[in-house]
Amino acid sequence: MADCLFCRIARQEIPAKIVFEDPQVVAFEDINPQAPSHILVIPRKHLATFNDVEAGDEGLLGHMLLVARGIARDKGLHEKGYRLVANTLEGAGQSVFHIHVHLLGGRRFAWPPG
Ligand code: AMP
Ligand code: ZN
Repeated sequence: MADCLFCRIARQEIPAKIVFEDPQVVAFEDINPQAPSHILVIPRKHLATFNDVEAGDEGLLGHMLLVARGIARDKGLHEKGYRLVANTLEGAGQSVFHIHVHLLGGRRFAWPPG
């Protein structure tokens, strides 16, 4: 999508600290980190929200989670724990309308989230 921020990051038209990429996904550091490690995993395919995901996207969604898991392991977050978050629509705090999984780690997290 031409003017979508995360599509533009995926195409490297806007700079980001990319930590992983492959033909399906890109992972980069969040510009406003909420934890010592805060990575966003996005699909290259533009999907505005999780409401827009449909049958056929299973492999892509599973791959996003496996990539997040791999980054957590590479960063050593898997030993103490990490959190994966996908905010959906404004009511849940979504601010960028291209789906992304937040990978947060390096501190303790409260539950329930705010
Ligand atoms: P959400 O509020 O769940 O939609 O998450 C969007 C995330 O994108 C926020 O944590 C922002 O800090 C992050 N963000 C916004 N713009 C950029 C950018 N240019 N590069 C990296 N992260 C960004
Ligand atoms: Zn997009």
